[in-house]
Amino acid sequence: ASTTIGSSVIPIINRLQDIFSPVDGELSKISLPQVAVVGSQSSGKSSVLEALVGRDFLPRGCDICTRRPLALMLVNRPRNPGDDGREWAEFRHLPGKRFFDFTKVRQEIMAETNKEAGSNRGVSEKQIGLKISSPNVLNMTLVDLPGITKVPVGDQPTDIEARIRKMIMAYIRQENCIILAVSPANSDLATSDALQMAREADPTGSRTIGVITKLDIMDRGTNACNFLLGKVVPLRLGYVGVVNRSQEVYNGLSDRCGIPQLAKKLNQILEQHIRMVLPGLKSELHSRLNAVAKELQKYGDVMESKAEKETMLLNILTKYCEAFSAMVDGRSQEISTK
Ligand code: GDP
Ligand code: MG
Repeated sequence: ASTTIGSSVIPIINRLQDIFSPVDGELSKISLPQVAVVGSQSSGKSSVLEALVGRDFLPRGCDICTRRPLALMLVNRPRNPGDDGREWAEFRHLPGKRFFDFTKVRQEIMAETNKEAGSNRGVSEKQIGLKISSPNVLNMTLVDLPGITKVPVGDQPTDIEARIRKMIMAYIRQENCIILAVSPANSDLATSDALQMAREADPTGSRTIGVITKLDIMDRGTNACNFLLGKVVPLRLGYVGVVNRSQEVYNGLSDRCGIPQLAKKLNQILEQHIRMVLPGLKSELHSRLNAVAKELQKYGDVMESKAEKETMLLNILTKYCEAFSAMVDGRSQEISTK
C-alpha cells in the first residue's frame, strides 16, 4: 500500500510514546516500534541523524559525545500559508519549552548528559527525549546510542565495552526495533562492529538497514560498491551510502546513496513496520490496560491523588484505544491525537 504523510501511522506511535514515557509499571513494558542507530564510536551516527534533520544540533566529533541514548522524534509539520515554516525542538524533561535556536539544543543535550553521566566521559542508559517539529523532516523516531568503544578513558569503568554493548542490545533485541547499522567506509566493512551486533540481534537480517558513511574518504583504489549492493553482508532491507558533509554520489548507484534516499527509505520502512505490528500492539495495549484497571481497583479510596491520576490516564488510554482499534480495523484512516 502506498503511504502518504497524511495517512501516516507514525504519529500514532509518537503519541503512544508521549503517553508512556513518563509512566512506570505495566504500560512502560510495551515496546513501541522505533529505529535504533548503532555503530562504533565516530562511525558517523550523530552526523547521519543531523543530516536527516538538516540541522546541526548534536554534540559531535569528540571522542565520546553520545553518552546517553537520545530518542529523537521527528514530526513533519506541514507549512501552512502565512506560516513562517519555523522549526523547533522540545525536550521531554522540559515540557512546553520550545527551542528555536539549535545551538541551545546542543548545549542542553550536553548539560543533560553531564547531569546523569558526569562530565568525564561516563555513560548512562537513561534516555534523553527530544522532539523536532519541522516542515523539512519526514516522520520517524530514531534513538542515537553511545558508540561501541574498546578502551576505557576518563571516568569510564574497565568494562565500558560490555556495558555499551549491553545497552545497545537492550534496544536492538526487541523485535519492534529497526536497526540502523552505521559503518564508516574507511575501515574494514566486513568486520564492522555495527553489522556484527546487528547480526547477533537480527540473525536473518530482516530488520537491519546498513548505512555506509564517509564514502568521501575511502582509500584510493577501493570502493564500497559490493557492500552497497549487499554482496558482502546481505541485508533484506539493503544499504544506503552517505557522505555527511557534502553530497557526492556514487556513479550509477544514486538510488542507493544520499541522505534524502536514506530519509525516504527509513520513513517507508518504519511505516510498513508499524502497520505490520499494529494488530499485535493493539492486543498488548488492551491486556496491559486491563492490568492497569485491575491495579486501580485495588487502590480504592486510600490513595486518592494517585488514583485520580491513574483514572485520568486510564480514560485517555481507553479513548485512545478505541480510536486506535478503529484505525487498525480499517474503519478510519485518521486518529485524533488531541
Ligand atoms: P558518532 O560517534 O558515530 O556519532 O560519529 P560523529 O557523527 O560524531 O562523527 C565522527 C566524526 O566523523 C566527525 O568529525 C564527523 O564530522 C566525521 N564524519 C561523519 N560522517 C562523515 C562523512 O560522511 N565524511 C567525512 N569525511 N567525515 C564524516
Ligand atoms: Mg554520536
